[in-house]
Amino acid sequence: MENEIVRDIEVNQAFGWLTAIEKSHEKESSGAYKIKCQCRCGKTKHVAASSLRAGRTLSCGCYKKQVNAQLKEQHKNNFDMDKQYGLFKPVRRVASTEKFERQILAECTGCGNTKVVLATNLRMGHSRTCGARKCVAIFHEQFPDAPEHRKTVYN
Ligand SMILES: [Zn+2]
Ligand SMILES: [Zn+2]
Repeated sequence: MENEIVRDIEVNQAFGWLTAIEKSHEKESSGAYKIKCQCRCGKTKHVAASSLRAGRTLSCGCYKKQVNAQLKEQHKNNFDMDKQYGLFKPVRRVASTEKFERQILAECTGCGNTKVVLATNLRMGHSRTCGARKCVAIFHEQFPDAPEHRKTVYN
């Protein structure tokens, strides 16, 4: 084939977000020439032909970044408002800032007070009571197997 760069790979052939441009000056460890590709995002990347054929490389790396960002976003939104976290019962979500993960207004069932806590701290088990001594005691009565209450987290 006249447009073939190397076997099975043609000029302008698409591999995910990558488009094959030409034979690269770079070689893979086997000694075969890599393929210079242009990614949808505009970056160029030199990819092993075998990776393109096998569908292992589908972008310059930006695709993976985007997927990871999406997963992180989903993770944030997946906070379960119906669950109880230690003594905390979520009341409502509080607008999250760019820097911090979503905050939750939660009620401490030990004393009835509400407190704004980070969703991630609830999920990870770092925030389990409002921090009042009475509530910490209630918490340990209810969850005798729980590890030592780390008070510093609540400040
Ligand atoms: Zn890219
Ligand atoms: Zn409390």
